[in-house]
Amino acid sequence: MPVITRFAPSPTGFLHIGGARTALFCWLFAKHHNGKFLMRIEDTDRARSTPESIETILDGMTWLGLDWDNKDYEGVGYYSQFAQRKRHAEVARQMVANGTAYYCYASTAELDAMRAEQKEKGLPQRYDGRWRDRPASDAPQGVPPVIRLKAPQTGETTIHDSVMGTITVQHSQLDDMVLLRADGTPTYMHAVVVDDYDMGITHVIRGEDHMTNTFRQVQIYKAMGWDIPTFAHLPMILGPDGAKLSKRHGAPAVSDYRDRGYLPEAVRNYLLRLCWSHGDDEIISPQQAIEWFDLGGIGKSPARFDFTKLGSVNAHYIKQTPDVELAKLTAPFIARFLERPLTAVQTDILTRAMPDLKPRAQTLVEIAEMAMFYFHEGVFTLDDKAKKILTPEAKQSLIDLTARLETLSDFTSESVESLFRAYAEEKALKLGAVAQPLRVALSGSTVSPPIFAVAGLLGKDETLRRIRAL
Ligand code: GLU
Repeated sequence: MPVITRFAPSPTGFLHIGGARTALFCWLFAKHHNGKFLMRIEDTDRARSTPESIETILDGMTWLGLDWDNKDYEGVGYYSQFAQRKRHAEVARQMVANGTAYYCYASTAELDAMRAEQKEKGLPQRYDGRWRDRPASDAPQGVPPVIRLKAPQTGETTIHDSVMGTITVQHSQLDDMVLLRADGTPTYMHAVVVDDYDMGITHVIRGEDHMTNTFRQVQIYKAMGWDIPTFAHLPMILGPDGAKLSKRHGAPAVSDYRDRGYLPEAVRNYLLRLCWSHGDDEIISPQQAIEWFDLGGIGKSPARFDFTKLGSVNAHYIKQTPDVELAKLTAPFIARFLERPLTAVQTDILTRAMPDLKPRAQTLVEIAEMAMFYFHEGVFTLDDKAKKILTPEAKQSLIDLTARLETLSDFTSESVESLFRAYAEEKALKLGAVAQPLRVALSGSTVSPPIFAVAGLLGKDETLRRIRAL
């Protein structure tokens, strides 16, 4: 049987980094088995679902390169749970017909009173089955009923979870949950099962927080006589402090990583290592990930999110990215700082500066920050360290050198360097005594990429303008 997995986010917010890890594992498992990976948007909760959220989630998936196989689905581009509501209702009614579900006419007030009484007696608060065995003739006139599952009351259900192992729950723990509300809309618990069945899902891979739902959902499969898929519940992702990863830890959404200049390959590589391992391998190419991924490699313990490690994985992928590509990816960050787009000439400078920039950066934002000085117009504001370099003697040397630089017909990093070396020798100065003031003049700082290379990239006019602006 071909493997079919799905990612089933509720579109009530952004694409959470934990959700992205789930999606990645579902995607890899399907790819590894030459199967299919499907997207289902769980938009049944109309009050909380928004089109913006759907867009953000799909954008995030696309950015991560996790494409789904039902992109053409009904012209919508994904399987919509809400669109299946009639089918959900139909299955619930089928269950009533086959005796595994029943109509319940209890009013809200009645159920509130029931729960209040249970609370007072210290009993677990759950539906007491008051309509479970009543004949249809008892149905009150004009009251729309809900449909409830006739959950088994004795015995137990065992699940062989591919990650968590064998887990058994006593049926006495289960209640007769609602499948279909009085207005004909399905509950989340019911819709998930019907959709997974209709989509032919063979492996349900999702967060550990769904484990308790699984025992209740399995009862619906049994009631309908459907094959139960394989379940794999993934351990939680914790923040660096050991608490569940959340907004509090700073970057909960996939888009936060994009905005902070992480590369999608790096984020994927990093997410892959959250609860899954292949020996001690840390850097795993997309091809290797598909080749190696299996459910057996997933551990049971939660993973801690480690921003330092993510930074070093990102640095690795930055170094691997060709300069032209990296410049294209960095340009929007610089444009954001400059509040204008880069010209073609500036993008070319950025590309040629890349070999000096990329070994020192962990993110595209860091590259952009380091590269900003290339595009500086006007005069630099110097810090104390930089001001100290510009002694009257240093300034005089630069003035002397400006005259010589002007005569250079072939203005390259090499020709500028030899000119500076010759000058230093002539004046019995160390090279640093002239190179460091040049650095301050061209970069506005005491640290920069190799300064003669910078001069070569800026060109003669801009180099001279910056020196004269001191
Ligand atoms: N919609 C659920 C969520 O966003 C996932 C349901 C599932 O994977 O079964 O948490």
